[in-house]
Amino acid sequence: MEKLSDQFMEEVVKACRPYTSQGEVVDHIPGLDQSHATDLGVTIITQKGEIYSAGNDDSGFSLQSISKVIILLMALEDFGKEVVFQKVGMEPTDDFFNSISNLEDYEGHRPFNPLINSGAIATASLVNGASVEERFERICSFLQTITNDDRVKFNKEVYRSEIKNGARNRSLAYFMESTGILSNKDAEEALELYYRVNSIDVNSLALAKLGCFLINHGRHFESGEQLIQSHHVRTVKAIMLTSGMYNESGTYAVEVGFPLKSGVSGGIVGAVPGRMGIGIIAPAINKKGNSVAGGQVLRTLSDKLKLNIFHD
Ligand code: GLU
Repeated sequence: MEKLSDQFMEEVVKACRPYTSQGEVVDHIPGLDQSHATDLGVTIITQKGEIYSAGNDDSGFSLQSISKVIILLMALEDFGKEVVFQKVGMEPTDDFFNSISNLEDYEGHRPFNPLINSGAIATASLVNGASVEERFERICSFLQTITNDDRVKFNKEVYRSEIKNGARNRSLAYFMESTGILSNKDAEEALELYYRVNSIDVNSLALAKLGCFLINHGRHFESGEQLIQSHHVRTVKAIMLTSGMYNESGTYAVEVGFPLKSGVSGGIVGAVPGRMGIGIIAPAINKKGNSVAGGQVLRTLSDKLKLNIFHD
């Protein structure tokens, strides 16, 4: 088995960077354009707190779908598993992440799981707070607390573009309002929170810290403070393993073998139980929404460091 070192990280980035040419950078996120097509940055924080980083690890990017993990953690902490999973299922889906078709016929009109768009909008409607501002503030400051990084902040331009390009998400939310899936709040409120959380800027170090938070069972990786109950974190990691990579999650469970969540800006967070948190940025994504070079980094790390949780 290879040993983690800065040199090892450099070699992984060098070997995986050519895979960026197999993906496309989305064209609707402000600050993200073709000039970032070959970017690849990776940060690992081990369970002991050692940090290894290489490539374009100082690149900032918006959370996008990785926000679904944070929204789910909050909804579980606020309402518990029973209530959350009355609104949303826990099954993987072979449909695209923004599919509307299954809402019409799946059991009780529930979205398949909380890590697709419909599911995240439904869980966003469950986050506690007197107003959208207050609910967003809770989520944003939670993320700032666990990352302890002042580069983690709301990006207003990205938020505006989420609204402008949000026709599909609005359809999902209004459909779910019509079937009673959205809790208390109406579609606009759930959408507003969803757009805002998608628009928080992060970096690969911040994602690695999020991964560490998950492997530390909801405890702050530096202070040790329990911020989310461990049984909720366990639920989130299980769903990340089965549904975190959109409709490629089964492939990743087999080829990589630990909980992951990706976003369309090319970020991926990984949580390897007992070992490490991983943060990756490589904005060139495939048709299913996953970073191509990021996926190759994960396969390489899993293989060379023996990270697959089903490993013998
Ligand atoms: N903001 C994007 C959307 O709501 C996020 C999609 C993603 O990262 O998968 O469609």
